[in-house]
Amino acid sequence: MAKCVLISDQTLIYDYRNFPLLDFLPCAPTNSVPSAAYKFLKGKISPPINGGRLKYAPYALRKLEAALLRKYPESEIVVAHPDHLGKFIKEDTEIIGVTTMDPFGLGPVTMSYYALYESKELDAYVRREWEDLMKKIDILRAGKTAKLMIGGPGVWEYMLMPEEIEKHKIDYLFQGELDDVVCELFDQVTQGSIDNNMFSQSYVTYDDTFHRVVKQDSRFLSRGKGLKAFPSIEDIPDIINPSAKGLVEVMRGCGIGCDFCEVTLREIRYYPVDKIVKEIKVNVEKGGPGRAWIHSDEIFAYKHLQNYVPDQDALVEMFKAIMSVKGIRRTNPTHGRISIPSAYPELIQKLSEAMHAGPTNWVGIQVGLETGSDKLALKHMPAKTLPLRIGSDGSWQEIVWKGVYNMNKYYWRPAFTVQVGQMDESDEDNWDTVALINRLSTSTCEGRPFEFTVTPLLNVPLGRIKSKKFESQLSPSMLAVYYASSKHLAKMAAMVAQTQEATDPFAKYATAAMIHLGGVLMFKMVERIASKKGVDIRKAKSYGIEGKKEITAWNIAVN
Ligand code: SF4
Repeated sequence: MAKCVLISDQTLIYDYRNFPLLDFLPCAPTNSVPSAAYKFLKGKISPPINGGRLKYAPYALRKLEAALLRKYPESEIVVAHPDHLGKFIKEDTEIIGVTTMDPFGLGPVTMSYYALYESKELDAYVRREWEDLMKKIDILRAGKTAKLMIGGPGVWEYMLMPEEIEKHKIDYLFQGELDDVVCELFDQVTQGSIDNNMFSQSYVTYDDTFHRVVKQDSRFLSRGKGLKAFPSIEDIPDIINPSAKGLVEVMRGCGIGCDFCEVTLREIRYYPVDKIVKEIKVNVEKGGPGRAWIHSDEIFAYKHLQNYVPDQDALVEMFKAIMSVKGIRRTNPTHGRISIPSAYPELIQKLSEAMHAGPTNWVGIQVGLETGSDKLALKHMPAKTLPLRIGSDGSWQEIVWKGVYNMNKYYWRPAFTVQVGQMDESDEDNWDTVALINRLSTSTCEGRPFEFTVTPLLNVPLGRIKSKKFESQLSPSMLAVYYASSKHLAKMAAMVAQTQEATDPFAKYATAAMIHLGGVLMFKMVERIASKKGVDIRKAKSYGIEGKKEITAWNIAVN
């Protein structure tokens, strides 16, 4: 019997043809990418094994599975392949647990596409895929007693779309970390009696000024007063089966305190190296890829010293240990700050040596630049530059430039995000961001053009999401940021498409061609929209780099 069936949102388990930028593909509105192209580029879900279990599952599901296996036998806990759910959801199933990141397409990347396309309805591929999955679960669950629970970082979206809870007869939604208490929670849910000392029936949301607000609602669960606020490292189980992309986490929380970021509210906890290695071995030994994605929200904060000075020895030791696992050929951290490569080029060099980085093995990492404006950086993320400081250590743009230079020098390729729509943002701030992107796009490092991508994210107040008024909210200066980003992306798509990994040569060339073409089409489309909305295209093309063909050092005055 499958007492508990764990399922993933399908957009989290496609392989996206092993091209990292394509992970954002499901955020596109359905009318912007032909469905045939979407189907091809999303690639495949990992194959079913052992009668329909998922071979590689999102890391969060693997953690839940491992926590449940502390109490229940393997036969009762199933992480199911979406095409084989019918084999496991039966009369005796007690709980169906589904994890999601962006069920209705209200996440920042998806919202930024809606605004660009002035979409009148929420119809991104993420939403379509989620609806398909929920309908499938509805059919299989009909007439049975299994309780349906939703978890994962996308649960907040149900607060804005509560009608979806009734529509699919969802019993509970859980927000937060569950590693130490998932067995108790599942027991209470199946018995229909929630201990409110352990689990609060409420949800946490944020108002338009990012102040925390708690609202009572019996359908939403989170850790209650009777539990410690977060599980400790000892409470967090090691995964037992392989995770998608060979991903393992190395820490939780961050603590840097950017005012738009929820991660900073979580207690900071570090995995010891032997725990990290143990999980990577599970991935490799059970058929996972030779690449380990090292997850944190800020890798350079791993065991950081005072003032967020990186602990270089701890970081190098960790990556050396990761690369020493038999079968691991590549690794990359998922997220990090730019100020550390800016201030500590020797650390990036040492890490590159540990990771065997080089011209055919670039290290990808997501970096939140957020803005090109000193004013906004100081207001919203004053500690993100630490241990550097805007002013005494240069402007934010200068810190960023040096960081990209040092990353590219040692074969790190950052995927940047920048925000538009931040509180107290002016047109001038957005033009500062345009200048930063143009400068980076024109820069070279030891004769090579800077390699990076940049994705604009729209910071949408929750109230506006609720009213579903996304159209006409991009001002010309915001659109100028989209323009500069897509112009650079078209350039990078042409360069990077050739280097994507694929075993099938046809798939490799078809993917490369589609990525290249997609970059050009996206740029042309953004140019058309920006021009129609009154953006001065000549200004957007040259802002910040007037008269400069190539920037080889930070030799330009900031506007
Ligand atoms: S550094 Fe990153 S993870 Fe940390 S608080 Fe700032 S945005 Fe959040």
